[in-house]
Amino acid sequence: MANDTNRFQAIISHCKEYGFIFPSSEIYDGLSAVYDYGQYGSELKKNIRDYWWKSMTQLQENIVGIDAAIFMHPTTWKASGHVDGFSDPMIDNKDSKKRYRVDHLIEARIDELSKEGKNTEADTLQAQLDALIAADDLSGLKDLILTQKIKCGVSGTSNWTDVRQFNLMFSTQIGSVSEESSEIYLRPETAQGIFVNFLNVQKTGRMKIPFGIAQIGKAFRNEIVARQFIFRMREFEQMEMQFFIRPGTEDEWYEHWKEARMKWHLSLGIPPAKYRFHDHVKLAFYAKAACDIEYEFPFGFKEVEGIHSRTNHDLSRHQEYSKKKLQYFDPEINQNYIPYVIETSIGLDRTILMVLSEAYAEEDLSTPEKTDSRVVLKFPPRLAPVKLAVLPLTKKDGLPEIAREIMDVCKQQFRCFYEEKDAIGKRYRRMDAIGTPFCVTVDHQTKEDRTVTIRYRDSMQQDRIPIEQIAPLISKAIG
Ligand code: ATP
Repeated sequence: MANDTNRFQAIISHCKEYGFIFPSSEIYDGLSAVYDYGQYGSELKKNIRDYWWKSMTQLQENIVGIDAAIFMHPTTWKASGHVDGFSDPMIDNKDSKKRYRVDHLIEARIDELSKEGKNTEADTLQAQLDALIAADDLSGLKDLILTQKIKCGVSGTSNWTDVRQFNLMFSTQIGSVSEESSEIYLRPETAQGIFVNFLNVQKTGRMKIPFGIAQIGKAFRNEIVARQFIFRMREFEQMEMQFFIRPGTEDEWYEHWKEARMKWHLSLGIPPAKYRFHDHVKLAFYAKAACDIEYEFPFGFKEVEGIHSRTNHDLSRHQEYSKKKLQYFDPEINQNYIPYVIETSIGLDRTILMVLSEAYAEEDLSTPEKTDSRVVLKFPPRLAPVKLAVLPLTKKDGLPEIAREIMDVCKQQFRCFYEEKDAIGKRYRRMDAIGTPFCVTVDHQTKEDRTVTIRYRDSMQQDRIPIEQIAPLISKAIG
């Protein structure tokens, strides 16, 4: 079994080798922190997206979904605070010309100290970092980098520029004639598309508070990143839900959504010990509470989802900038107010990495007679890209015809894969590697009694079942 340090690399290689995730435009040597999902990756992504969407909308009678555009009126981002405040402190190394996020540089030093067993020093440094970030003290951050003697990983020197704020939004021009064009942004989060549509949805859907609006879509951030695969990308997908509530009820709804979201995570079959809540110490001035759900990736506990109690900040700002009333009349208390909001915000790509990290296993199957091993992705069946492989034992004797009959029935209901080439053992291993939970083999006995061998991915156990039972058995397993 690969250890944690190279397990991450093994997952990245596996994703590429088996058609899950490729570097973007790889034939041109790729584009940093941008990735493409291949034939199995895109199925996995769709299954996770659908699972979230169903749990948020179909199963919640008071939450509806929307699909807002990526481009939004530029004033949106003034009102949201992103134009002035969506930035990270950065520092450049003058020798290597490499740019770093200051908090990442210092956090790497904190990790080093912890690994050396210097826990008190690590805690002190973390506290200093938090205080300087909270105070926006850029020169203090630079001093900390110098006193900690932090060096650039490429040049090996401490020849640093001053620390500067670097806005993470991508901008472009809208309009065909250059004199008439104006600058707009690629959205850095999907949430604002929900806030600006709050009244449209509330009125047309006759929604009564408390209610939620959910959305899944692309977001773009000009992140400074180093080898974090799909954990931190420049183009990524978010699944967000804004829950609109009566002021004064925010604490109970915040607790409700913390619990509900953790339940959702556990329903992915991931053990509770792999998750933890991390409360934010530094809250935005308008926020009442905020926490992250962190998962233990091969590189440590990191944020997958944020849950935020945001008061009425966003709607108030949009009301102020648009000069349009964004209020709700609450018939139960006979009052108009700007609703408060609890937000749940999860990254789809980070969820994919979490599911992949959890599913990836290298198993030693050696017996005294021969050495053997397999790599298997133990996805929950409902998330697996392919649910069933249909494998005729040989290419002749009428076996492919029966296998095709099974395909014709099953592919109407879920994703199937047909293969007749190579020895059956090899075909099983290929299905293990892409996480297919069920394989059925059509053999000579099938011609006599219309039964097949079904093989279960995780236990590798094999049973004999009638052809008619295949589809119901799998449909039940994928929920
Ligand atoms: P981080 O601290 O890791 O930069 P964040 O706190 O800025 O994340 P949010 O703005 O709260 O993240 O976004 C909500 C979710 O969107 C995150 O929990 C994460 O899953 C996802 N996300 C944010 N930035 C990225 C990114 N660059 N690549 C992939 N997913 C991202």
